[in-house]
Amino acid sequence: MTRKENYDFSNLVNETEELVFEELEYQLDQDWTENICRCEDCLLDMAALSLNSLEPRYRVSLLGSLYASALHDDEQAREEVRQAVIQAISKIHENPAHNR
Ligand SMILES: [Zn+2]
Repeated sequence: MTRKENYDFSNLVNETEELVFEELEYQLDQDWTENICRCEDCLLDMAALSLNSLEPRYRVSLLGSLYASALHDDEQAREEVRQAVIQAISKIHENPAHNR
């Protein structure tokens, strides 16, 4: 057994990831994304593409998700995430995996 198997890693969270999923939800509710595919393949690709262009921000969350991350209050970080997500949505829309 490795430590990865024995220890609980579920408290290891990437704050950037949390922000990306929030932003993705938000953008997919906007008018400009109305005709964009929302299948699982496309959403996973959008999330992956966004996350690869952003700095990861890992932290250990011993109190679960009770407290909003500090990143939520960082306007510059939020703006970077917003731009990355908008770009990722556009790119995947132009070239979705199921059309390749
Ligand atoms: Zn799709």
